[in-house]
Amino acid sequence: MRSHYLRRACAIPILLAVASVCSGQAPLPEPVTDQETELGLAVYNELKAKGEIVETSPLYDTLRPIADAITRVAQSRYDHPFKFFVVHEPKPNAFATPGGNVYVVDSLFYFVKNSEQFAGTLCHEVSHTIHRDAMERLKEEQKIQLREIGAALLLGPSIAEMLAIKMIGDMHSLAYSRDVESRADVTGSDICAATGYNPWGLVWLFDEFQNADTKKIPQLLSDHPANNTRIETLKEHFRENPTVFSKFDSRPEKATPFAVPKNEAEHFLRP
Ligand SMILES: [Zn+2]
Repeated sequence: MRSHYLRRACAIPILLAVASVCSGQAPLPEPVTDQETELGLAVYNELKAKGEIVETSPLYDTLRPIADAITRVAQSRYDHPFKFFVVHEPKPNAFATPGGNVYVVDSLFYFVKNSEQFAGTLCHEVSHTIHRDAMERLKEEQKIQLREIGAALLLGPSIAEMLAIKMIGDMHSLAYSRDVESRADVTGSDICAATGYNPWGLVWLFDEFQNADTKKIPQLLSDHPANNTRIETLKEHFRENPTVFSKFDSRPEKATPFAVPKNEAEHFLRP
């Protein structure tokens, strides 16, 4: 009887431990220490208030190894930890905010054709953060806030919230210039190459949609028809750095299949 009791007592914590490892869970946001983490948290809170952040989903188990590989390579180039969240939105997309948060729309997992296209998209987004593109764009657009942005002081809840709403709007429209996008493609390809993910993934993604109907093009390729320029810039970068890129196969038929759990339940983070 006693030994039976002991066995049960042991089994419960083991089961709990296994469950917490197996069910993919959203990370916790970084505490606010400066304007970038402040804006990052304000965007996080807006998305959470809209019920868009997925708290638990097996998609996190698919995301984690790719996100970890990218983080190992890219983290030294940015001073806040990268954190990857699954979000639920109508269109396949990924976007990054100041402070290190990267958001991956659930439908993107099912939209991409292979691991390289998925990794390439994440590498591209992490590069926007490394380049501080969102901060630069806010500085450009919000002339009124120029004094606040870039100063050491925090923005305060109302300004941070207002800018966060603006930033979410930007992420849903054509936010960056072609040059800014190309720069993120190039840095992203360097990061992907360093992780071992074939950096041709982004080229394959652009190629597929170059001639597609504009309405069917996902948000992350929204600057269509400029994709050709982005493809050419990437190919030139690959040619100019053969020691890094020549080992990767340019043929999409050599891509790695992307295994994603089908029809899995998502549980949303509620405010
Ligand atoms: Zn971009």
